[in-house]
Amino acid sequence: MNVVTLLQRLQSIDQEWDEKARRFQAVRAQLEDTSLLTTLREADRERREALSKAQGQLQDAELEIESLRAKAQETQEALYGGRGRSPREVESLRQGAEQLQRRIADLEDHALELMARVEDLEGEIAGGAETLASQETEDQRQRQELRAEYMTLRTRLQALRDERAEMRGEIGRAELALYDQLRTQKAGMALAPFRDGFCQVCRVSVPSEKARIAERGDAAVTCEGCGRILYHA
Ligand SMILES: [Zn+2]
Repeated sequence: MNVVTLLQRLQSIDQEWDEKARRFQAVRAQLEDTSLLTTLREADRERREALSKAQGQLQDAELEIESLRAKAQETQEALYGGRGRSPREVESLRQGAEQLQRRIADLEDHALELMARVEDLEGEIAGGAETLASQETEDQRQRQELRAEYMTLRTRLQALRDERAEMRGEIGRAELALYDQLRTQKAGMALAPFRDGFCQVCRVSVPSEKARIAERGDAAVTCEGCGRILYHA
């Protein structure tokens, strides 16, 4: 195999390597990224905490209502108990009873709000759990695909690394140095095809002597326009 053909092969190996290595990194990053599920689980945990808090508050309110109702009952009984009380005592009891009724009414409103909140949260938790479950399924499916792709890419990259080493072993040091320099300078494209006497990358004409060498492919000659190694195409 002549040196220009070897360089062409090397470049196609290097290009495939670049592309697959990029994809490999992206797949690995995706496999490591669990932020969406973490966010969903966190939100679920927060809703459950809020529910448990609201349930506790509701229970407290209900207990307090119960105890206030018992107290109101006692006050009513005292008020209508018929024992001789001074008007001042009666008035004080009546005011106490009124206060209790107001407090009970407020607490009942509060309890109703809490019940609505509990109901809302229960609905949100059910919805959130459904979203989380379907996302977990989807995530698992994606991960399976990504893991398979990861393994395929890894195998291919290992093979490319070996092919690359083999190919470089067959190319002379000067040509390799030129190739590596051009790969860096020319965004990975060290070679340029030429046809009908013109470089197909930059459109500059190729002198006939260079064209003859490039056609034979036994030495690396460069384009006078873009500086890339020429191969006949
Ligand atoms: Zn050129």
